[in-house]
Amino acid sequence: MKPPIRAILDRLAARYPEAACGLRFADPFQLLVATLLSAQCTDARVNQVTARLFARAAHPRALLELPPQELEELLRPCGLHRTKAAHLREACRLLVEEHGGQVPETRRELERLPGVGHKTAGVVLANAFHQPVLPVDTHIFRVSHRLGLSSAPDPERTQEDLEALVPPEERVVAHHRFIALGRELCTARRPRCSACPLADLCPSAGLLSAEPGGTPGGGGIPTGNNGIPAGENEKS
Ligand code: SF4
Repeated sequence: MKPPIRAILDRLAARYPEAACGLRFADPFQLLVATLLSAQCTDARVNQVTARLFARAAHPRALLELPPQELEELLRPCGLHRTKAAHLREACRLLVEEHGGQVPETRRELERLPGVGHKTAGVVLANAFHQPVLPVDTHIFRVSHRLGLSSAPDPERTQEDLEALVPPEERVVAHHRFIALGRELCTARRPRCSACPLADLCPSAGLLSAEPGGTPGGGGIPTGNNGIPAGENEKS
């Protein structure tokens, strides 16, 4: 039996009332860029890089005018900078040539952009366009499986399970709150169940933690790539 989603959402709201996107952006294009750069990089590092990048090029046409080597150097602190620079340039080319320099508002069009997978498209749809989606990153995949909210083998179907449970108007903020829980308490290797506000609702409470009575490690729940496409893995 699934734990009560209403109680879970309410307790997460009480614990993380201010949970929000950690990436700084002023418009959909900036969020798209920041999300592309966030693969295997922390939000804080991405924000440092995008502050410098957007000072040089704040829209697709300007970014295409940057010398390729300068773009790579700007992205270097994010890691995978050559791949990210190539994806970014090609994405900007498509945005200019096919979308008038604007970021499209549909998943189908977003996922045609280089480097944009299911999760990245969902993050843009949720945070830039306020669409009722609950994109699943590695934190949400882990937390939702431990809570028994999904047993789906991949993030896409986990998202479907969660969206069937979470009311549309709460999905975006629930996305941020599940991530906050995954980062603070329900961590991959050592979940701190004794401090978790969901412990009495969670079928995994105490089973996976390094606390007395628990077993360190993921307890069979995937904690690495988690089936998330390359470039969309855990970052913090
Ligand atoms: S009780 Fe433990 S396993 Fe369950 S959600 Fe909380 S931290 Fe994660």
